[in-house]
Amino acid sequence: MAHQIFKAERIILVILSSSEKSPVSTLRMDSDSPYVFVCDHAGWQVPASLEGLGLTKRDLKRHIGWDIGALAVARKLSNILSAPLIWQNYSRLVIDCNRVLDHPGLIAVESDRTIIPGNMNVTKDGIRSRIREVYQPYHGTIKKLLDARKSRSTPTILVSIHSFTPVFRGIKRACELGVLFGSDARYARTFLNSTKANFDFLVMANEPYRVDEKDCTIPMHAIIRGNLNVLLEIRQDLIVSGAQQELWVSGLAGALEDATSQIL
Ligand SMILES: [Zn+2]
Repeated sequence: MAHQIFKAERIILVILSSSEKSPVSTLRMDSDSPYVFVCDHAGWQVPASLEGLGLTKRDLKRHIGWDIGALAVARKLSNILSAPLIWQNYSRLVIDCNRVLDHPGLIAVESDRTIIPGNMNVTKDGIRSRIREVYQPYHGTIKKLLDARKSRSTPTILVSIHSFTPVFRGIKRACELGVLFGSDARYARTFLNSTKANFDFLVMANEPYRVDEKDCTIPMHAIIRGNLNVLLEIRQDLIVSGAQQELWVSGLAGALEDATSQIL
């Protein structure tokens, strides 16, 4: 069960115990590479106090719980390009770190026809604890890195790595790589052109989603700072094996380098 602590004469609900994994992990934070990779939906795990949100481990490991394969691809990209990577370890069903705080799906009660029992009647304290213990540390880490890079005038391209299910609500998706952007499409448009020379996959602009004002990571960190940015959505069935991931990483890294050489 979640426990409570007293702070400033208020009772604070705490969901993460000190023995549990930090919500945020990082790699290569001192790198001056122009790329900063982030992975909002990297993990499927749930803090023990939330008792799996009432779902089985099997359900949590489905696409509703996390972006299958996305972290593996992001780690390889960070490695091959020697670039920073920041990721969030807990399931997006605990709290969705790519949604603004007033988004109705911030703590989803249903996802692709699966009801999330542990999110049905979350108290205000419960919501606050998920924001304080998972959401804010993740976004705080991204903010700190981007602020530091800005203060030393390091050019930054924020690359957000996601993956999407090949079948959603019973409908098959043809798109294999979605290149998503919002109001600042400078880098995404150049990258889209670069994929033509580096990819045999079906690449589509703003499919199966687009970046809008209800998204958090790209607008809150990149657009607001004027940083170049792109959000990549890779179809999950194409990045299952290590060999598939390597193929994608090679194509993505080539397209990123090509686009960057044109725009920086
Ligand atoms: Zn995602």
